[in-house]
Amino acid sequence: MRLAVIGTGYVGLVAGAGFADFGNDVTCVDRDAERIRALRAGSVPIFEPGLEDLVQRNARRGRLAFSTDTREAVAGADAVFIAVGTPGAGGADAADIDQVLGAASEIARGLTAPTVVVTKSTVPVGTSERIRAVIGAETHVPVAVASNPEFLKEGDAVGDFMKPARILIGADDEGAIETLRALYAPFVRTSDRVQIMDPRSAELAKYAANAMLATRISFMNELALMAETVGADIERVRRALGADPRIGPKFLFPGPGFGGSCFPKDLRALLHTAREAGSSLRVVEAALEANERQKRVLGARVRAHFGREIAGARVALWGLAFKPETDDVRESPALEVARDLAEAGAEVVGYDPEAGWAAREALGEALELASDMYSAAQGADALVLVTEWHEFRRPDFRRLREEMKRPVVFDGRNVWHPDELAALGFAYCGIGRPTSSPGP
Ligand code: NAD
Repeated sequence: MRLAVIGTGYVGLVAGAGFADFGNDVTCVDRDAERIRALRAGSVPIFEPGLEDLVQRNARRGRLAFSTDTREAVAGADAVFIAVGTPGAGGADAADIDQVLGAASEIARGLTAPTVVVTKSTVPVGTSERIRAVIGAETHVPVAVASNPEFLKEGDAVGDFMKPARILIGADDEGAIETLRALYAPFVRTSDRVQIMDPRSAELAKYAANAMLATRISFMNELALMAETVGADIERVRRALGADPRIGPKFLFPGPGFGGSCFPKDLRALLHTAREAGSSLRVVEAALEANERQKRVLGARVRAHFGREIAGARVALWGLAFKPETDDVRESPALEVARDLAEAGAEVVGYDPEAGWAAREALGEALELASDMYSAAQGADALVLVTEWHEFRRPDFRRLREEMKRPVVFDGRNVWHPDELAALGFAYCGIGRPTSSPGP
């Protein structure tokens, strides 16, 4: 098939390259000319495991092209995907769908033959109808509109896209459904994981999935804080919970709060949609509120540890991305911790395998960047593990002990063993488990 994908961010680029890998002829469009120049030169502007290979291989074989010209890309396409951003609207709760409607209007102006316009961006319920109206105002070419929300997760986006757990097709038009079924058939060869539904249900299902996952995280974070007050260890509670087949082990890890470009904004947008519809989602409200509190926990603990001595203390942060295996720092809890400590007068030095520069851009002078994990710890009065990249899981603790001025660690992901750290001479503080001090 001939496809156009509008937007080359985490979703658009992965989808475009993934479709090309199954033999489709794909043009990926972005209005960011610098991005397109880089992609044409074979350089992938975001870090996502396996993506560079996928992009370069398909570009080399002539199946994947890049352009800034939507009109040219959509002319003659069998399907056009919208994968542009839907950020929170300037701090407000509603999702800003201007990029989506803008892209729809540009697509309509370029169409020369009937096609299907497919929304991959996460959009509020009812957006398909608004897209249809925008397109109808620009062209008489028959166009079907379908919703096909994307469930990939950053850090494993290529794997998720190539082997999706399910594919939702929200459409009323039989031709559109057939086109999308055919396109996705190679992705679901082993078992049919395509679900056909109306556009509104598909739009809501995407928000519902994110809200459910975020709720599990907030539930565990609140329970972790409670475990501390009653002298329980949340790690034992987590394992017990996860062994229950009705619950399962995923998304039960307590930590510094959820961040990223999706959960916070999507929960706010879902609540906005519910309010507008005269409905309420109190569980989701609570999940978001608990997260706001959780994002302040790590910083508050470090400040409490130092008291007045926080001013001038040198605090090292390991991990700045909102989660491992990505360079995305949007709403990352690490930024919150860094800001909090810097405002209290601490010298904050951070290291992240991929997200260092993005964090530095977001934080400016508040963050000093280190070139590796041990240099970040050099002369530090405390170390805070915020994002659990693999390389932080089994560091050389003896070396770490030597590099640090004072052996104090805050383990924001509970990846280390309190007793082991105490035996090595560290004061240890995790989330939801007893703190430990150096042994005799
Ligand atoms: P992103 O911000 O990384 O990328 C969006 C891209 O679209 C940008 O490069 C921007 O320049 C481009 N763009 C905007 N308007 C355009 C236009 N009119 N023409 C051409 N290009 C245009 O966004 P993302 O993280 O890839 O997310 C895209 C959508 O997918 C959002 O709705 C998001 O909520 C959703 N989503 C994201 C993820 C994720 O993990 N990032 C997962 C599932 C769904």
